[in-house]
Amino acid sequence: MKTTFLKITTLQLVATLLICCAPAKQSATRVTTAVDINNYIKAISKENLETNLTVIASDEMEGRDTGSPGQKKAAAYLIEQYKKAGISYPTGATDYYQRIPAAYLNTKHNENLPDSENIWAFIEGTDKKDEIVVISAHYDHVGIKKGEVYNGADDDGSGTVAILEMAKAFQKAKNEGHGPRRSILIVHMTGEEHGLHGSRYYAENPLFPLKNTVADINIDMIGRRDELHTDTNDYVYVIGSDYLSSELYSICESVNQKYIHLTLDYKYNDKNDPNRFYYRSDHYNFGKNGIPAVFLFNGTHADYHKATDEVSKIEFDALTKRTKYGFAIAWEIANRENRLVVDKTDK
Ligand SMILES: [Zn+2]
Repeated sequence: MKTTFLKITTLQLVATLLICCAPAKQSATRVTTAVDINNYIKAISKENLETNLTVIASDEMEGRDTGSPGQKKAAAYLIEQYKKAGISYPTGATDYYQRIPAAYLNTKHNENLPDSENIWAFIEGTDKKDEIVVISAHYDHVGIKKGEVYNGADDDGSGTVAILEMAKAFQKAKNEGHGPRRSILIVHMTGEEHGLHGSRYYAENPLFPLKNTVADINIDMIGRRDELHTDTNDYVYVIGSDYLSSELYSICESVNQKYIHLTLDYKYNDKNDPNRFYYRSDHYNFGKNGIPAVFLFNGTHADYHKATDEVSKIEFDALTKRTKYGFAIAWEIANRENRLVVDKTDK
């Protein structure tokens, strides 16, 4: 890639400069009909997020460790919500579970994990239904340690309930004749805390060809604020949006400016950042396969991976606004005329 720059002729250079200096054209990042999307952004409800998170991050779910009875209860609760909302499992699947054998989960580090499952749900697209937009969040957490339940309300109960709420907003749109043009695949990943196993398994055993998978919007921890934002929760870290597709970056910017108005923080949008957040959640297994991926994140805090990551500490106004943001990104990717162009190499 780099060498091609050396071959640019003076004429090409002048032409490029002229294009670059021309006023920015809206068409490149055209945002679909405002009227429609606002109805569905509005449908994302703080009350629903709170009700669902109160269940998902309750002691009854026993910290949702991979393959544990508590995690299976959380899965059953999610499936019940999809059924209630009239949202099906994907075409080509037999139910809401993508089953992952213990042998696979223990390949990397033998932790003696039992069998576990990704949970998936699907909103079939209309005229571009073979193109898939993935929305992901992990629903596992670290279980019970020394008798204490690690509820993982922020990590990643927040993402778990966010993607359920996003799915419901897409389904509502579909019920009202405004279903997405591309198909939406929701995946609640398992085994994330043990090494991104669920997303790695999905990428190796995809239900829909990866070449038809347009993007992944991954949500992991969006219900709190970090110590760099003590005076406001009106922000979100955006990571990876420009690694493979400059259009994905533009969409993440333009839908925010148009509908959401969060402060987008790119501090961690750097593969050389010592925290290595890009490598630490499920979008990574899409990005590494050449699928444009964006990770929405609130940063870490004092309760990160502690028993004190509780629902009582969730800031539901922030969780709601960031869920709306993820939805708006997915809506634009799913409904725009052209499929996202991959114009960069993820190096
Ligand atoms: Zn997490």
